Amino acid sequence: MGKKHRQHFLKYRSLYEEAIRRHVCAKCVDLGEDGFCRTKDPQGCGIFRNLLGLVEVALNLHELRLGPYIRAVRSHVCSQCVNSMPGEKCPIRESLDCGLDRYLGLVFEAIEAVDRSLQKEKSKSSPS
Ligand code: SF4
Ligand code: SF4
Repeated sequence: MGKKHRQHFLKYRSLYEEAIRRHVCAKCVDLGEDGFCRTKDPQGCGIFRNLLGLVEVALNLHELRLGPYIRAVRSHVCSQCVNSMPGEKCPIRESLDCGLDRYLGLVFEAIEAVDRSLQKEKSKSSPS
């Protein structure tokens, strides 16, 4: 994936992380009452491990829509994930323990919200 998208992610990383906490973690069954994550994925939550890829996939789509986003995540993010097995299999997905797989719709919502607010900022600051 491109250097430009990587730089974009590094610049706005904290916004994306905050949006994931708000849109996804707040509704996740693995969030403990103490606010700590209790994911059963031994590698850590698939969302935060793969956040760069999840943002890059969104930036690469011509039009940000849920269906194409889900397909692109499966082929570009899951395929690179340490938990993936040959034949597109994933034991963590199969046991419903992947936060990314369980909440992909909410992840999409979080990334879309950040991108929308960045675009708004950009159009406000560019001369009309
Ligand atoms: S599993 Fe992922 S989405 Fe759920 S609370 Fe932990 S970090 Fe957040
Ligand atoms: S579904 Fe499996 S391969 Fe995809 S991100 Fe989750 S743990 Fe990784």
